[in-house]
Amino acid sequence: MNLAEHWAERIAARDRRAVARAISAVENQTAEAVLVRAAIAERLGRAQIVGVTGPPGAGKSTLVNALIGELLGRGKSVAVVAVDPSSPISGGAVLGDRIRMAAHQTHERVFIRSLAARGHLGGLSRTTRQVVDVLDAAGYDTVIVETVGAGQSEVEISGLARTRVVVCPPGMGDDVQAMKAGVLEIADLFVVNKADKPEAGRTERELLDMLALRSRRGAEDAWQPPVLRTVATTGEGVVAVLDAIERHAASLQPSSPAIHEPARIEFRVTKKLARIHDPRKDFALAEIESEVREDPLTGDTARICHFSFPPRKLPDLGDMVEATRAACPFCPGKISQVTPRYPDALLSGGRAQRGEATLFPNLFPYDDLSAIIVMSSAHFVPMDALPAPMIADALKLARDFIARAAPTLAGPQTWGIVTWNYMPPAGASQVHPHLQVIVTDAPGNSLRRELAAETRFLARHGLAYAKALDACERDGESGRRVLREEGIAWSVPFCPVGMLGDAEARFAGRATLGACGDGEIEAFARSLARICAAYARLGMWSFNLTLLPDAEQESSGRHWLTARLLPRFYLNPQLHNSDVAYLQLLLGEKFGMIHPEAHAAALREQLGAT
Ligand SMILES: [Zn+2]
Repeated sequence: MNLAEHWAERIAARDRRAVARAISAVENQTAEAVLVRAAIAERLGRAQIVGVTGPPGAGKSTLVNALIGELLGRGKSVAVVAVDPSSPISGGAVLGDRIRMAAHQTHERVFIRSLAARGHLGGLSRTTRQVVDVLDAAGYDTVIVETVGAGQSEVEISGLARTRVVVCPPGMGDDVQAMKAGVLEIADLFVVNKADKPEAGRTERELLDMLALRSRRGAEDAWQPPVLRTVATTGEGVVAVLDAIERHAASLQPSSPAIHEPARIEFRVTKKLARIHDPRKDFALAEIESEVREDPLTGDTARICHFSFPPRKLPDLGDMVEATRAACPFCPGKISQVTPRYPDALLSGGRAQRGEATLFPNLFPYDDLSAIIVMSSAHFVPMDALPAPMIADALKLARDFIARAAPTLAGPQTWGIVTWNYMPPAGASQVHPHLQVIVTDAPGNSLRRELAAETRFLARHGLAYAKALDACERDGESGRRVLREEGIAWSVPFCPVGMLGDAEARFAGRATLGACGDGEIEAFARSLARICAAYARLGMWSFNLTLLPDAEQESSGRHWLTARLLPRFYLNPQLHNSDVAYLQLLLGEKFGMIHPEAHAAALREQLGAT
């Protein structure tokens, strides 16, 4: 069992010491935080997360305390994250409310943790989210996030709750209009606490008036926030508050977005600093930086390290092209003689044709249905001049074959996966350009794990990860967007798979190649030809490209068809090293030698040069 699995097991078992230690790790962003996040990544999204906020003096902690008692009475387990605006050490007085809440702390189904607002690395809202994630993974039915005050940070923090309760003290009637508009906008339910005070009635009316104005603008069937009264110190009205929280949670469909919750994609980078006496600088003390990045979807880590390598010259491919021509099984004249055919029941005539592209079975199959598409009659097509129509015809042929072949498989889910291994350094045994097509119930470890992560993302945020990512990168702020051609957007992934900088394209709103019309495939082919030319000008003359689809039968909307292009070292006499190292092979760690943002800038520059 590795360390992450060990963490996962102890947190899932709700081992209090493990939970407390995991929270400290993410709160202080220690080295263990990466392990914790990896351990809990697959256990998120189960807890009901309730935000409780409102101005100071409203009695939020007392209300939370009463809610804990009521939840316990209903057989639930509950965790509370109390965000304190002052440091618990230097802030002095501990509120009486918090002391009363602490009385529940010893209950086996209760966990309470205070977070100080000051001194957090990376922002309080992110820290709070990660603490909530740990408690979610620990299996608490309800996680209550209590924030003090009514400022912008509370609005941000409330973004992580599915149900948001705004607690108002009585006598704030005149202040309702002045109350931060954002706090009112996020409320799913209002509680006028200390309702035994005479001013409570007026506060309630003010809130109702304000809601009446707002509801006239809203949709008829939208959730209308109720205004409830409580006397939290006696427990009066608390049952109704909890009932309203449950009703609100039930009104949210499992796949519907939390109404105010923005899609959260976090791009986490941990800087590493090696201190050495550098022989290249007369043994002066030098600091050398590298990075550990976390893939925002899967939580997998990737390393970005600087390595020097000689300038890449355009290799002379002439000798190799000529040496392979005579024995090529894909050249005209040979292809029909030496390549296999499918039974007529699957493909009438045994092979399929579109333009210059020819499809036939792989003589060395990877799966039940493993086909090859020879893309061109030309034996060699240079990477800086790949004809877009050639690519488009081959992909349309692949699309039509997948549609024909997928229903012949018995499994409940099938994937049609298309791969292009261009030139021998990418593993191609033939120089002649060709695609691999497999139609399979076994999509491979990476795709299976990514799809599972996309299912969790969709359940949690109500929208596809690809769509959220597209929104993040659309404005170019990330620095990783490279090219957009109609519905096809190319970016450099935050965590690259390969050493030299990948690129990936997403097909907006299309989950499989079969869902793509001819126009979309043609737009993709044009953009791919341009991207490949840009890589060639950067000195890279070999690549693997795979189109990663969802299952043919899947209709959840979790996935967008993604083309991932990974450049490969060209094996030439200048370069004797491999582009697969111990990190990838033995540690299962992605490893890049170029910062993705720098790589994206280089690609954009080359694209602009066309
Ligand atoms: Zn050939």
